[in-house]
Amino acid sequence: MLDATPRDSVMERKGLVSNPCKTCQPVGAIYAALGVHGVMPHSHGSQGCVAFHRMFLTRHFKEPAMASTSAFTEGASVFGGGANLKTAVKNIFDIYNPEVIAVHTTCLSETIGDDLHSFISALELPKGKRVIYCNTPSYVGSHVTGFSSMAAGFVNHLAEKSNETTGKLFVIPGFVNPGDMREMKLYLDAFDIDYTMMPDTTDVMDAPMTGNFELFPKGGTPLAEVKRLGDAAHTIALGEWASEPCANALKRKHDVNFDVLGLPIGLAGTDAYVMALSKFSAKPVPREIDNLRGRLVDSMLDVHQYLSAKRVAIAGDPDTVLGLLQFVLECGMIPAYVGTGTPGGNFEAKVDTILEKYGVAQDDCWRKSETDYFELHQRIIQNPVDLLLGPSLWKQIAKAEDIPLVRCGFPILDRYIHPLIPIVGYSGALHLLQMIADTLMDRQDALCEDQDLEFVM
Ligand code: SF4
Repeated sequence: MLDATPRDSVMERKGLVSNPCKTCQPVGAIYAALGVHGVMPHSHGSQGCVAFHRMFLTRHFKEPAMASTSAFTEGASVFGGGANLKTAVKNIFDIYNPEVIAVHTTCLSETIGDDLHSFISALELPKGKRVIYCNTPSYVGSHVTGFSSMAAGFVNHLAEKSNETTGKLFVIPGFVNPGDMREMKLYLDAFDIDYTMMPDTTDVMDAPMTGNFELFPKGGTPLAEVKRLGDAAHTIALGEWASEPCANALKRKHDVNFDVLGLPIGLAGTDAYVMALSKFSAKPVPREIDNLRGRLVDSMLDVHQYLSAKRVAIAGDPDTVLGLLQFVLECGMIPAYVGTGTPGGNFEAKVDTILEKYGVAQDDCWRKSETDYFELHQRIIQNPVDLLLGPSLWKQIAKAEDIPLVRCGFPILDRYIHPLIPIVGYSGALHLLQMIADTLMDRQDALCEDQDLEFVM
């Protein structure tokens, strides 16, 4: 397994990514579009692209990810895809009848310079229907960039402002699972906050089995709420990379102020979310939330001896990785390697700020934005770790180096149920804590001598 990875030293590379810590922009754009009710995500490119994007989402969520395509062939690739888009939009409204078609580009349509604004402005649409768009060339950014661009696209194209405020809190949940969004909503409900969450993939990518296929499942942010976002009282953007561009778009367009928080992962991450909700609602923290926090702290103390000083490598999406980094530090672990494939946002400086907060020397943690699993593997060979934390993409390294892996984040392609179970909030942290402690203690059981196999470890 991974026999070609150099074992003597870390190879210097430029201009080559091998086994990236990310996937392409349209994957995120489709996921964001699926989080608004009655929307058909549309890929302006060739069929092969959208087949890959849908497959990737379906394998993570174990749910069908619907999307259409402009179906480029040689002609569109040479002469432009305007005619394909015109035909596609007519067919989609005639056959599937969505309320909105959310178009994103691909590498091909961006490279030939297709101008979506001109194409879409010239379309004749059925009454009341809309076509929105965003640009998602995959030779820059990542699926996280695509998600944030499509979320901002909904605001740019649909959000309106009247003279009457809704008083609502607009919550942008970040690139997280529907299980995480449900958990975030529990906190909003506990504070009795009137809110709009967008995108919201609950009851879309975790829809219950009813025996009937629904092209547009009942979940997703209602379009009527998206249109009224300009009247929101305030925005909370969870995750700088995935959510801040959307909050910024609403600020620029309709002057709605916003706060950017990290994803509510771990103790301090969830505390920040809870205090932001307390401030917005002008209410004290409800007793049930306080109790959830207390149970998490109790459990962290219980398992601390098994996690303390264990070396861990973390990879994945930057917002998720920063949340996980803070949580492992709260648990007394040593984050030996921290990496993401998504560019921008000064990732390393943010890692350093968190390390400083927890009194960890920067030399003890290798961190890098735009890294890949090939580089992480080489470094782990030089100085091994006790645990890998992140998506399924760690899998081959886990097998090659015989290091246990705790799966969390995106994508988890080779296991089930993860999208339904939160890793955010105090309960999510408890779930993470249990997975990490169980994995390390299973390892201890597996490696110890027979006479040392005890129930009290
Ligand atoms: S060509 Fe670009 S958009 Fe299409 S699958 Fe590949 S990276 Fe993604």
